[in-house]
Amino acid sequence: MSTIVLGGGLSGLSAAYYLKKMLPKVPITLLEASDRIGGWVRSNKVDDCIFEEGPRTIRPRGSPAAFNTLELIDELGLANEIVPILSNHPAAKNRMIFVNGKLHSLPNSLISLFKKQEPFSKPLIRYLLNDLTAPKKNVKDEPIYDFVNRRFGSEFADYLISALICGICAGNAKEISVNFLMKNLFQYEQQYGNITKGMLKNLFDSNKVKPKGLALKAKKEKWSVYSFKNGLETLPKALENKLLDHKVEIYVNTTCKEIDLPCIDDNGLVFLADGRILNAFHVISTVSSQCLAKVVHKEHPQLADLLNKIKCVTVGVVNLKYNKRLITKDGFGFLVPPNEKLPILGVTYDSCCFPNGDNTVLTVMMGGAWFKDLFGDYPDKQDLLKTAKEQLKTTLGITDEPINFKVSIHQNCIPQYTVGHTETVEKINAYIKNNKLSLSLCGSSYYGVGINDVILSAKNAVNDLMEDV
Ligand SMILES: Cc1cc2nc3c(=O)[nH]c(=O)nc-3n(C[C@H](O)[C@H](O)[C@H](O)COP(=O)(O)OP(=O)(O)OC[C@H]3O[C@@H](n4cnc5c(N)ncnc54)[C@H](O)[C@@H]3O)c2cc1C
Repeated sequence: MSTIVLGGGLSGLSAAYYLKKMLPKVPITLLEASDRIGGWVRSNKVDDCIFEEGPRTIRPRGSPAAFNTLELIDELGLANEIVPILSNHPAAKNRMIFVNGKLHSLPNSLISLFKKQEPFSKPLIRYLLNDLTAPKKNVKDEPIYDFVNRRFGSEFADYLISALICGICAGNAKEISVNFLMKNLFQYEQQYGNITKGMLKNLFDSNKVKPKGLALKAKKEKWSVYSFKNGLETLPKALENKLLDHKVEIYVNTTCKEIDLPCIDDNGLVFLADGRILNAFHVISTVSSQCLAKVVHKEHPQLADLLNKIKCVTVGVVNLKYNKRLITKDGFGFLVPPNEKLPILGVTYDSCCFPNGDNTVLTVMMGGAWFKDLFGDYPDKQDLLKTAKEQLKTTLGITDEPINFKVSIHQNCIPQYTVGHTETVEKINAYIKNNKLSLSLCGSSYYGVGINDVILSAKNAVNDLMEDV
């Protein structure tokens, strides 16, 4: 009788890792539908460079989730594999947006807040000061666009936040919940009337988690973001090896078709697509909420309806390599606010972040909340490649042909935390509790979409389980 972990992406691997660490005697079986481990983390070695088809960097600072990932990396013995981008590197200092047909660098220092910088019509400090006088609105939740528009003005919402939401979750800021990215700032407004007051009151909060170990090193050395020498897939590969060393049973090409969920009084059954049936003492689901909805629908239609409320968007990723230097101004890359009506979300300058001789490596991201409108129900990879090349010409003036490229269409890859998301997750958890189901939820559908979030969500799920044992 095993604890079954559903999904072999970063959160599934992390859940199995923490489970083995905290409850070493519990037998674990991890099921992965595809033929490989790692989920959306895919580092493809092409000649001498790496095409990251999914995530490319991890944030080391500013949150317990970031510190937790570094602690995990240290435990896995991967500290020496890390390649950080330091905060004085052009890739850290120069982040851009494409507005009104031009690239604009975003302010990156205290002094730059006081200067008027295109496309903004006044210095950024003036938008920030707007917060002091903007009236408070009592709401439970609202689109992040409306919140920012209300407190800082429309240019801030149109150029900055809308672009940022495209970069973080490929989503539409007019739909995404303010509780997603700006939870603290939103709560400051609700509690203190404006954000500035809330920030000042919390400046000396002694409960803040202090970095230690590798996280402290990252702080001292001023890492902005990081990856690994052989790409981000280093992390799931190391986790997989660790789990195999500890005799965790990992099955790839193994799709869970249906689950009769275990509960406190009874064990459960996991039905696999190949006809096998596994007994389950507990299930940790790390698959997307919509994938989970499919497998629990028969026994728990009400739970499936709640899970189906959290929708995902599809993202097209085009990696391109050119055999000469084509970028005139180094940086991390640029984002395109939706108002520009271009068919791309943004472009990362991979060879500026992680240099590759005289080559230029770029990644064009497209679609997200607008994928279906742009590419239809049956997207064609040639169409995406053509669009990527056209947009590189429009935005960066690149007319050269790439010497190598890879087009990926990641169907339903990023969950959208739309208005009401927190309430939906609360209802899902209440259903599980009220029905005494032995089911833990983690992964990108519930508590944050980034790598740090999903790893911490796995750790928290296992911690909660420990309390019940
Ligand atoms: C294009 C892109 C760029 C990103 N960029 C960044 C970034 O730069 N930084 C960052 O921090 N985050 C980034 N993210 C987010 C990050 O990649 C995710 O948070 C993370 O990979 C999610 O991991 P997961 O294990 O929760 O889910 P997944 O990776 O989706 O893993 C779930 C696994 O479950 C399997 N599965 C599904 N259904 C079943 C079933 N019925 N039976 C068995 N197995 C099943 C799937 O095959 C999959 O392997 C990006 C995501 C994408 C898509």
